[in-house]
Amino acid sequence: MTARHHPSDETLMAHAAGTLPAGPRLVVAIHLDGCRRCRDTVGDFEAVGGALLDASEPAAMSAGAFDALLARIDAADGAVEATDAALPRAAREAPTTPEGVALPARLARHDVGRWRRLGPVLSWSRVGVAGAPEANVVLLRIPAAGAAPRHGHTGREFTQVLVGGFSDGRDAYVAGDFDEADEHVDHRPVVDADGECVCIAAVEGRLRIHGIGRLLQPFIGL
Ligand SMILES: [Zn+2]
Repeated sequence: MTARHHPSDETLMAHAAGTLPAGPRLVVAIHLDGCRRCRDTVGDFEAVGGALLDASEPAAMSAGAFDALLARIDAADGAVEATDAALPRAAREAPTTPEGVALPARLARHDVGRWRRLGPVLSWSRVGVAGAPEANVVLLRIPAAGAAPRHGHTGREFTQVLVGGFSDGRDAYVAGDFDEADEHVDHRPVVDADGECVCIAAVEGRLRIHGIGRLLQPFIGL
């Protein structure tokens, strides 16, 4: 599976620098799991970032100071792991998947809710991102030839196609593809006629749903 649409360099740079918010970071990470090209790009950015960091270190920095820096980085990493591990995992319904579809292994660390119906064609499931309750991440599932409501955005929207494909007037996207939309994009994704489509999307800000679809907005909370 070779993706044709990838995260922008700006997004991959932010991922490498660790500055992406938790929701987009998760969706980008799922893309990276399946895209060697983007993993290589992130590796290059990380190398450049490391070189810049080295160049900015005072030449006379003592070994002790460097050890202290490493210890601080280790401690910060440990804190993140501890937070994730402390999250409750039980007391929720097991996530279900479409027939024959395995959700990304990376989602096992997060709290994936059951599918909920929204309108005649759309099913959605909220993904509780470990350690980031403010993150807006959803799985979306639309049958063959179904359409999502036409909508705009107040912030960025990062979408990774997991199964099937859709077109939205800008381009066509298939499994493995990544799409970035922002406040300049207004689109109505229509799923390909040959099968259902499952995507995972991180939304910053709110969707601006047009027409009758706006009545659905309070239910999805985005
Ligand atoms: Zn890629």
